[in-house]
Amino acid sequence: ENITVQELSNRMAVRVADIIKFMMRQGQMMKQSDELDADTAELIATEFGHTVKRVAESDVEEGLAGDIVDSDENLEPRPPVVTIMGHVDHGKTSLLDALRQTDVVSGEAGGITQHIGAYQVRVASGQRVTFLDTPGHAAFSAMRARGAQVTDIVVLVVAADDGVMPQTVEAIQHAKASGVPIIVAINKMDKQGANPDKVLSELTQHEVIVEQFGGDVQVVKVSALKKEGLEELVEQILLQAEVLNLRANPDRPAEAVVIESKLDKGRGTVATVLVQMGTLKRGDIVVVGAQIGRIRAITNERGQQLQNAGPSEPVEIMGLEGVPEPGNVLNVVENENRAREVADYRARAKKQRTTGIKSTGTSLESMMAKFKDSTAKELPILIKADVQGSAEAIVGSLEKLAHEEVRARVVLSGVGAINESDVQLAKGSGAPVIGFNVRASKEARDLAEREGVEIRYYNIIYDLIDDIKGVMSGMLAPLN
Ligand code: GDP
Repeated sequence: ENITVQELSNRMAVRVADIIKFMMRQGQMMKQSDELDADTAELIATEFGHTVKRVAESDVEEGLAGDIVDSDENLEPRPPVVTIMGHVDHGKTSLLDALRQTDVVSGEAGGITQHIGAYQVRVASGQRVTFLDTPGHAAFSAMRARGAQVTDIVVLVVAADDGVMPQTVEAIQHAKASGVPIIVAINKMDKQGANPDKVLSELTQHEVIVEQFGGDVQVVKVSALKKEGLEELVEQILLQAEVLNLRANPDRPAEAVVIESKLDKGRGTVATVLVQMGTLKRGDIVVVGAQIGRIRAITNERGQQLQNAGPSEPVEIMGLEGVPEPGNVLNVVENENRAREVADYRARAKKQRTTGIKSTGTSLESMMAKFKDSTAKELPILIKADVQGSAEAIVGSLEKLAHEEVRARVVLSGVGAINESDVQLAKGSGAPVIGFNVRASKEARDLAEREGVEIRYYNIIYDLIDDIKGVMSGMLAPLN
């Protein structure tokens, strides 16, 4: 009847950590050996794009066994997918433009002509790198909040004449929270007053330790304006990709993530998707979120019509019935009936989730209840405070609360009003948001309401710590 997290992971060829993360977002802490009931297993399998055939209640496993298990033999290297992040005006857009021009085959095949939300460049060796073309953190965390991990590597742009700024720190926290390695690009090296050493020591204060300080973060000095250092940056990205050993099975029905989408008057729904595994083909029947469609056209960023697209390839597709949201997962299924089944199931599952959200969201109480009978003991928390000093004091006090069994994990601590990006990060990490002497913006409040993220306000540190302490002791296993 039941299946352990580990077994389910094997059957789906999905990392255990990804299943655990998914369950955390549902407000449930699990570990590898924990058992899942049939309903939960089915929900997870469907979320990860597997179609579950359940003849009887006990048939979850059988249904999953029919799925393709990726083994060493059918995995092939795939290009890294890179997101560029950094403070406003530090040169993200300029760098994306400059990198676009490093493509070596543009001459013959026509350059990158369209903005579709992502593009791929090819280097002389024939290797490729995919860049997400929507800089900034909003897109990154919106996708993460939906559980889509599309980025393999974050390139953190820091202007050499400006140094580490608030959004630089935010970017670091986002990257760390999702476990994505960072490559630092110190930009504007051509400018008077460029001071790369200052940048590096400032980064150290935020635990981004570069090689020359004994860490393992790579640094490349660039000038997006003068187009200098770009080859080296791409080279570092490819090296990092090698370390990550990025592979996917191209030889299976595709799974892709929606990057952008819009309704085009003449063409209907146009969506840019990034293929994550398998090969997407023209004519494929797909399910995206709770919608279905048939792929009528596949176009790349060069305006070329394609018959198919493989792992890490970003392409624009036509043929979806409705407009999906960024972060939605697209799955190829064998026929239209199957597509309807999956879409219906997802619509039902979503309804269940949203009606049950008050109790399974990120509220402290519900987390406490969930934690009570589990053994994983980490309480993720996101903190926003009015001044740096308070934020530090709170983090310091929380650290002191940690004991062997339970500890608070600060996903982000920052200064300023609670914004949408905070709520998205909180949602993605399964954390409540704590505001100390700050409020949430209207947009952030609305989003929190929709996503079931709890926001708590405090103006006395003692009260805050006391509450957290209460939650943490509630998480302790009963002594018996
Ligand atoms: P974003 O907000 O991070 O996307 O930054 P932009 O790419 O829009 O760049 C902000 C400003 O910095 C623009 O005026 C760019 O021309 C300028 N800029 C970007 N890269 C460089 C560079 O390498 N050197 C110099 N001198 N200016 C740059």
